[in-house]
Order: sequence, then C-alpha cells, then structure tokens
Amino acid sequence: MPILSVINQKGGVGKTTTAVNLAAGLAQTRRVLLVDLDPQANATSGLGIQNADTTVYDILAGEASARRAALPTDVENLFVLPASTDLAGAAIELDASEEDVNLLKKGLLVVRASYDVILVDAPPSMGALTLNALVAADALIVPVQTEYYALEGIAQMLDTIERIKASLNPELDVLGILLTMFDSRTNLSDQVEANVREHLKQQVFDTVIPRNVRLAEAPSYGQSIFTYAPSSTGALAYEALAEEVLNRVAQR
Ligand code: ADP
Ligand code: MG
Repeated sequence: MPILSVINQKGGVGKTTTAVNLAAGLAQTRRVLLVDLDPQANATSGLGIQNADTTVYDILAGEASARRAALPTDVENLFVLPASTDLAGAAIELDASEEDVNLLKKGLLVVRASYDVILVDAPPSMGALTLNALVAADALIVPVQTEYYALEGIAQMLDTIERIKASLNPELDVLGILLTMFDSRTNLSDQVEANVREHLKQQVFDTVIPRNVRLAEAPSYGQSIFTYAPSSTGALAYEALAEEVLNRVAQR
C-alpha cells in the first residue's frame, strides 16, 4: 500500500495529467486513491468532481477524516480526496515545522489499508503543501518535460529530494523519473531523452509519455484518457506506465 507522490517544483510539466491518468490506469487492476494537494484542484475537476463538501484542506486542518472525504469517481476502483481553492490558505497557514509537514501523512493513516496505491498530486512550488507530499510519500514519481533544460531541472529536484531524505523522510525513494510531452516530430526530444537516460540510467522509466492533444482535452470533459480516448497514444502510454509502476513497486 505505497503512497506515491507526483512531484516537480516546476509547473506545467505534466504532474496532474500523470497523476490522473496513472491513477485511472492503476485502477484497472488495483484499488486507488488520488489525493489532490494542489489549490488549483485540476485533478479533482479533471475527474469530474465539483464543489466537494469535504476536501483535503479539512484533513490537513484535522477537521475531517480522509475515510469520509474520499469520493468515488466514474472510474471503478478510483477514489479522490478532492482539493478546493481554500487549500491556498493552508499553503499560507502551514510552515515547515515538523508538526505541519506531517499533517498529510497523519491524515492518510486511516485510509492506507483501504487502498492498494495512494497517489498524491503535488502543487508546483516548494511550499508547505509540497513538503507534506514529500513527507507522506514512500516513493516519488518525477515527471519532467522533454525539453532542452530537462537535466538541469531534474538535478535541482533530486537535490531537493536528497535534502528531504536527510531531514524529514529518510525512507524516501525516487520510484522513477518520467519523460513527458515527448514530441516525436522533433530531433530535440530524441536528444533530450538520450541525454537524460545516459546520466540517470535506470532511474528513468522506460515508458515515455508522448505529446498527445487527447491528454490535454480529456480534463475538460471530466474524464481520464481511458474513457475519453481509449485508443489514443496517450492512453497506451499511461497504461504502460501503470504496469511499469506496479513492477517497480513490487521490486522495492
Ligand atoms: P502540472 O500539473 O505539472 O502543472 P499539467 O499536467 O497540468 O502540469 O500539464 C500542463 C499542461 O500541459 C496542461 O494544459 C495539460 O493538459 C498539458 N499536457 C500535459 N501533458 C501533456 C501531454 N502528454 N500531451 C499534451 N498536453 C499535455
Ligand atoms: Mg498540476
């Protein structure tokens, strides 16, 4: 029952797209909880959930149980702990104290045994919410856009992860680095992939997520890629990623 956080301090790299579609892919064979820890609530709305009564904010505030806040989705075996804009308040109210950064981990204790996998979609900044995602996690999935500065971004992120490991969460692992938005029409994508694999070897998932407009469209219909465009390249890629994630989890 691992908790896997989808992390990158950079925005727009495919965290939420990965969290939602990996969660839906895993739900084909596992019972999955997706925790939306981003005040923008894109993972929540992307799965068709609006105006939830109880959100992850209430869990962090200690005012609700994650057991009651988790909502079913249209995808069988996929549940969501929704976010709302009031999470932006939590980002300000919380600090980097030992107590505050452990709130998510504590809140998820009551639901851990009820799911095969818990995925956390983290916000794009290094604030208190992201620290909570790093402390709650057993392992991390780090999506990286396949672009020229990919390696620099990864190096920064791995640095941050090492610091968290040394201080707040010694057990933390990187499950894998995921290349996203790979554009097969450009040589640049191939070069970036080769470069990243050369430096980071088996830390990089074999699966690469292609740039696929279906992946960008699906959230506006409140659907995962598997419902919206099941035979798209995006769906095939996230299905392959789900399998690879389960293999890596089994080998930990
Ligand atoms: P993050 O959560 O890291 O900020 P998102 O998952 O929200 O990133 O992605 C940023 C934007 O890029 C969104 O508009 C999303 O729809 C789009 N996007 C993400 N991954 C892909 C992809 N593989 N192909 C096409 N568009 C994508
Ligand atoms: Mg996001």
